Amino acid sequence: MANAIAVRQLSKSFSGGKRALSAVDFTIAPGEMVALIGASGSGKSTLLRHISGFIAGDRSTGAVEVFGRQAQAGGRIARDIRDIRAGIGFVFQQFNLVNRLSVLANVAAGGLHRMKLWRSLSMRFSQEEIAAALDALRAVGIAETAWQRAATLSGGQQQRAAVARALVQGARIILADEPIASLDPESARKVMDILAELNRSRGLTVLVSLHQVETALRYCPRVIALHAGAVVYDGPAAALTPAVLRRLYGASAEELLATDHLSLVNEPSGPGHRTLAAVG
Ligand code: ADP
Ligand code: MG
Repeated sequence: MANAIAVRQLSKSFSGGKRALSAVDFTIAPGEMVALIGASGSGKSTLLRHISGFIAGDRSTGAVEVFGRQAQAGGRIARDIRDIRAGIGFVFQQFNLVNRLSVLANVAAGGLHRMKLWRSLSMRFSQEEIAAALDALRAVGIAETAWQRAATLSGGQQQRAAVARALVQGARIILADEPIASLDPESARKVMDILAELNRSRGLTVLVSLHQVETALRYCPRVIALHAGAVVYDGPAAALTPAVLRRLYGASAEELLATDHLSLVNEPSGPGHRTLAAVG
């Protein structure tokens, strides 16, 4: 079976010569839940934006494939990138939703695949589209917010709505870029629980970037760690001990090991929780 995501020898230098990605190379199988960790500026967002075809890598090297289809190669974005992107749901740290629209419209718009329509206030949805959006909102536990304006949602609810939109879209991959960075501990836990649950029950492939390592270890069997644009670790979460992190990151390991706000929540519950045995 094709990889869900294949990143091959991907490098990116921004103008001014700054190297943001350096020969990044890995594959992710369908149904994996993988954490992408690294300190601020290590290249997490840049990598996720390459996978989704929003940025092209350096010329003459590097490629990205999504379910066996080339999303970019040699610094060129595939011509059918919109098609490829339709299979990917995005959850960003913030700014996920169109504030003036209802939650339902935001989620139902996941089925449209087109930004132009997305911007229209006069969107009309069929009964089926509305039913699908309500189902998705139910799956993420916020069906009662369907008729509110998106602006009225809390940060955690907005992230859950973004996940619901990905479900309506029929995405098989969710790319989440620090989805819990701006959330309180309880909301953060819910968002991670939902990602883990959808990974487990629907086989969605999840690649989630996280600033700190503790949440990564708790939810993701596999961790890819970036440092200055290069992969410095790719393997089981369980083997990523503080000692290994300090060896890989030196002094900047402390940023990743800093107590994560999720750990302030006692008695974690729900699906996907792992022990924190690897954190000393
Ligand atoms: P992270 O998401 O891990 O915090 P980023 O991917 O945002 O890291 O950034 C990686 C590096 O690339 C940083 O040094 C950042 O300053 C640089 N960078 C990111 N985007 C751009 C851009 N559009 N132009 C120039 N440099 C950029
Ligand atoms: Mg980032």
